[in-house]
Amino acid sequence: GAAVSFRNVSKQYGSVTALSDFDLDIAPGEFVTFLGPSGSGKSTALNVLAGFTDATSGDVLIAGQSVAALPPEKRQLGMVFQSYSLFPHMTVYENVAFPLRLRKAPAAEIRRKVEQSLEMVRLSELGGRMPRELSGGQRQRVAFARAVVFEPPVLLMDEPLGALDLKLREAMQLEIKRYHAQLGCTIVFVTHDQGEALVLSDRIVVMGGGHIAQVDTPERIYDFP
Ligand code: ADP
Ligand code: ADP
Repeated sequence: GAAVSFRNVSKQYGSVTALSDFDLDIAPGEFVTFLGPSGSGKSTALNVLAGFTDATSGDVLIAGQSVAALPPEKRQLGMVFQSYSLFPHMTVYENVAFPLRLRKAPAAEIRRKVEQSLEMVRLSELGGRMPRELSGGQRQRVAFARAVVFEPPVLLMDEPLGALDLKLREAMQLEIKRYHAQLGCTIVFVTHDQGEALVLSDRIVVMGGGHIAQVDTPERIYDFP
C-alpha cells in the first residue's frame, strides 16, 4: 500500500480555496516534492498531512490510517521547517534527544540513537553546544537529526533550506539525498525552487491555485533527452 494517500482533499479558509480535490498516492521510500509559487497550496497540503489543520473535505491516510483519527504521538512523522526551530535553551544533544524523551524511550536507547543521529549529520563533536553557537548549516543538520532520531517512516520538510545561502543550500541538497538513500524513508518536501525539486525528487507535484497542475518524474517534467 501507499505510505501516504491524499483522497480528494479540499481545504477552505473562509472564501479562500487553499486546496482543491487534491489526490495523490506516495509510495514507501519515495521522495516527493510539492513545487509551486507562493500561495499555491503546498503548505496547506503538508499541514493537512501533518494533522496541523483538518481538511474541509476528503481524507489523508498514513500507512492506510486516517490522519484525523490518529492521535499525534501515533502519527510517526518527522518534520523539518525553514526556521530551524531548535529549542534555544537546550544543547544540541538535548534537542536531538527530545522526540525520544517525549516517547519515554529508555535512557540507553536515547543515548544510542542520539549518538547515531549526530554521527549521521557529522556533528558528534558538538553535542554539548547551544544552538546559538552553531552556523546556519549546522543548525539545519541538528534539526534534521532531531526529525529522524525516532526513525519515522515519513519525513516532512517545508522549505527546509530556504534560510540558507546558495552555496550551503546546494551542499545541503546533496546531504539530504544521501540521508534519504541511507534511511530509506518516505520524504514529502516543499519548495518553490525548481532546481531544488529537480535535484532531489523521485516525483514532482507541480501546484497552482490549490490544484495539482502536473505530477511526474523530474526527467519528464523538465523534458530531458
Ligand atoms: P504555499 O505553501 O504554496 O505558499 P499555502 O498553502 O500557504 O500556499 O496557501 C494557499 C492559500 O491559502 C493562500 O491563498 C493562502 O493565503 C491561504 N491560506 C493559507 N493558510 C491560511 C490561513 N491559516 N488562513 C487563511 N488563509 C490561509
Ligand atoms: P539520561 O538519558 O538519563 O539523561 P544520558 O547518559 O543519556 O542519561 O545523558 C545524560 C546527559 O549528558 C544528557 O542529558 C546530555 O545532556 C549529556 N550528554 C550525554 N551524551 C552526550 C554527548 N555525546 N554530547 C553532549 N552531551 C551529552
